[in-house]
Amino acid sequence: MAVTYELIKTCKQTGARLGRVHTPHGVIETPAFMPVGTQATVKTMSPEELKQMDAHIILSNTYHLWLRPGHELIAKAGGLHRFMNWDRPILTDSGGFQVFSLSNMRKIREEGVDFRSHLNGDKLFLSPEKAMEIQNALGSDIMMAFDECPPYPAEYDYIKQSLERTTRWAERCLKAHARPGDQGLFAIVQGGMHADLRRQSAADLTSLDFPGYAIGGLSVGEPKHLMYEVLEETVPLLPSNKPRYLMGVGSPDALLDGAIRGIDMFDCVLPTRIARNGTTMTSQGRVNIRNAKYTEDFGPLDPECSCYTCRNYSRAYLRHLIKADETFGIRLTTYHNLHFLLEMMRGVRQAIQDDRLLDFRNEFFTMYGLHDNEKGF
Ligand SMILES: [Zn+2]
Repeated sequence: MAVTYELIKTCKQTGARLGRVHTPHGVIETPAFMPVGTQATVKTMSPEELKQMDAHIILSNTYHLWLRPGHELIAKAGGLHRFMNWDRPILTDSGGFQVFSLSNMRKIREEGVDFRSHLNGDKLFLSPEKAMEIQNALGSDIMMAFDECPPYPAEYDYIKQSLERTTRWAERCLKAHARPGDQGLFAIVQGGMHADLRRQSAADLTSLDFPGYAIGGLSVGEPKHLMYEVLEETVPLLPSNKPRYLMGVGSPDALLDGAIRGIDMFDCVLPTRIARNGTTMTSQGRVNIRNAKYTEDFGPLDPECSCYTCRNYSRAYLRHLIKADETFGIRLTTYHNLHFLLEMMRGVRQAIQDDRLLDFRNEFFTMYGLHDNEKGF
């Protein structure tokens, strides 16, 4: 198998797991946060910088790379790793989420989804087989099965019908996957906020024996306590010898509370997206560097942080760069935010090792100015 999971230990205070995901391009220490490199780049960061901050894996988006520059071109370049000069693991999504969130005039049928490109309006068709063809050409270490992520809220009957189709699509993905020796294919458990539907989805997908399982359909606008309830119901249904990936979650509080509930992998555009308008995550909570109170603040962005940005530049300088729309300012805030989350995840792994993740969580929440699950980013 291309991708395997090694459980090192379970935290005695919580259900959190310390582990390793083994892939053809190296090991991912878990719980892990995966920076998002939508268009074969984590916006403004070089691969060397991502390595400096010790990112073990990045995520890239199948839909975007399919539309531009095209998966055939990336295959010609020797695959996505060679194309973007990143030799560590890569996870690609299935393209489904972007089809449902970005495109116009989509029509879902059993065969797949008809839609129009968000770039030029071209008529396109994405199916389980096509999603596998694209991801096989990209050569990512971890590929995702093509699924539908229903909106929140949605009718019970629609969610049931949708998850059953997603399971049939997952079976078709397994059959169409041409490189199982080089790439691991993860399935996505759906079922909205309904415990019985989550059970149905998890039972059907785990019987197909994928090398890993994602929990999809969360962080789509529901209150956080509902997300945690769904995790508590769903995670125990997943095999303990496979990695568990919570899709689209990246606020510090949700990473902690997800890990506590047994999640191993997370991804989110949040740290990079907010960095571009000057919002940063620091040990004192959220700091928007555009704020006038930083005009003459010559101290570091985060005095507790050891990253390149915080070692070398002041809040006043960052504020000036971001306000002047300078790319270097965006690079510096992006670097810091990614470093902050990756450092926090190193802390999470150490706390699991030391059987004190609940204490770590409470210390972090106090330091960050969070008081309950509803607050945060
Ligand atoms: Zn920093």
